[in-house]
Amino acid sequence: MGSGVLQGPAQSVSPDLKISVAVPVYNEESVLPDLLRRTLAALDTLPGGPHEIVLVDDGSSERTWQILEQATADDPRIVAVTLSRNFGHQAALGAALDFVTGDVVAVMDGDLQDPPEVIPDLVAKWKEGYQVVYAVRQEREGESWFKKTSAALFYRVIHRITDVKIPVDTGDFRLMDRKVVDVLKTMRERHRFPRGMSAWVGFKQVGVPYDRAARHAGVTKYPFR
Ligand code: UDP
Ligand code: MG
Repeated sequence: MGSGVLQGPAQSVSPDLKISVAVPVYNEESVLPDLLRRTLAALDTLPGGPHEIVLVDDGSSERTWQILEQATADDPRIVAVTLSRNFGHQAALGAALDFVTGDVVAVMDGDLQDPPEVIPDLVAKWKEGYQVVYAVRQEREGESWFKKTSAALFYRVIHRITDVKIPVDTGDFRLMDRKVVDVLKTMRERHRFPRGMSAWVGFKQVGVPYDRAARHAGVTKYPFR
């Protein structure tokens, strides 16, 4: 302060900008090779780097961990963490946020329903000065009527019972500035809901529309219950 110069809203992008992608994975062996290939390709289009992908294996029962171990040996940009058992999607994501080291962090599901190709669009909004950039689904290709209706109802109820404005039609797919991630890391709630928490903490937020793909392979881990 004190210079009298007005500060523009845009982020000053350092030449060694590091982007992290945080991904919880549970029994995603059939998707992992494509997920890693497409995410690395998307990161390659962005300035700075080397960027990183931090994957947390949430106690998978099949070969997810073996594939991740091999991937980390093949490419230093891949970081893999394994949990002692299955703790659930949101806890696994919380663990991933403990390990990321980037200046900006993209959070994404590991089943390719969140297309990695959208990450550069999220980064572009961050460069404009937004600290939370959430991806807003346009379509829900391949999801059942029940899943769409129950998700819509869930968000309607959430809006009724809380003052926190959780954006409709968003999942975890979003980009957060390091400042936001550091605040989330101080919130050690037992039942965490990072997409709600990142709305609650404030900061400058904006949505970016994208088309949500059908699950690439494998099955949803959010069955009826
Ligand atoms: N996931 C996880 N632990 C779980 C269940 C899911 O880490 O116990 C991961 C899963 O591999 C995926 C993401 O969380 O990357 C979202 O899960 P899913 O695709 O099954 O949810 P849906 O898209 O049906 O809401
Ligand atoms: Mg999914």
